[in-house]
Amino acid sequence: MMQARSDRMRRQYKTIVLVPTMGFLHEGHLSLIKEGHRHGDDMVVSIFVNPTQFGPDEDLESYPKNLERDLELLQKQGVNAVFTPDAKEIYGKKFQTYVTLEKLPNYLCGASRPIHFRGVATVVTKLFNTVKPHVAVFGLKDYQQLIVIRQMVRDLDFGIEIIGAPTLREPDGLAMSSRNNYLTAEQRISALSLYKSLQKAKELIKSGIRDAATIIDAATELIQSYPETDIDYISICDTETLVDIKAIDRPVVMALAVKVGKARLIDNMILNQ
Ligand code: AMP
Repeated sequence: MMQARSDRMRRQYKTIVLVPTMGFLHEGHLSLIKEGHRHGDDMVVSIFVNPTQFGPDEDLESYPKNLERDLELLQKQGVNAVFTPDAKEIYGKKFQTYVTLEKLPNYLCGASRPIHFRGVATVVTKLFNTVKPHVAVFGLKDYQQLIVIRQMVRDLDFGIEIIGAPTLREPDGLAMSSRNNYLTAEQRISALSLYKSLQKAKELIKSGIRDAATIIDAATELIQSYPETDIDYISICDTETLVDIKAIDRPVVMALAVKVGKARLIDNMILNQ
């Protein structure tokens, strides 16, 4: 059905824009849609909590959902179609074909979530083949995901323009995320340590420090001073290869993942640009 709709839109010379999401929408998602409107005239949003990108001990079962509210929000955004497939529709019984990348998934989140980017690349491929967009918008919030998708689109000649949209934050700086819903009031305070550590890094670089390890140490200390934080990684790396950088002699991305209570939160910032 979705494919037939997309074919029809293409025959009408519409420019199809896809914004893939896992639902439980917030202002960050809506900002992607606003950005998307600038790039085409048929806006499609997908809502799908993709089981293949969750590890066995992750939050697939508890991932927050509110489809009714999501649809209401999307109606106000001038969205032309919402694609809400179920897992059976996406993954048939005998499913056995996956898209994998050789290098990019070895770094950052991929190191502790070994099947995550295989799941992401596969589902995004399937969404691309179903929705047939000309343009797709992804958030810089999931920096590694954006880089992985860009690489995949280049490598496999998808011919889809990938737009990266900036991270929307709460007034105090916390990056908006559906997973913030897991936080208690005390954990919400600890969650701000991710943003604070990125700000601290920015200050240190401004003051002339170029040694990545010094900055990572400062960030680690800051985050660990907040209760219920458990750092997965803090990395300062090349903006394209995601390989760690020792001396900050060019723009870099500082990326981190921290468990706060049961919420695994990520954030990142381009530094020294
Ligand atoms: P998710 O529903 O978390 O899979 O996110 C769907 C899309 O929204 C992804 O491209 C994310 O990078 C993007 N996104 C999530 N949080 C934010 C945010 N705070 N600001 C901008 N984009 C975001």
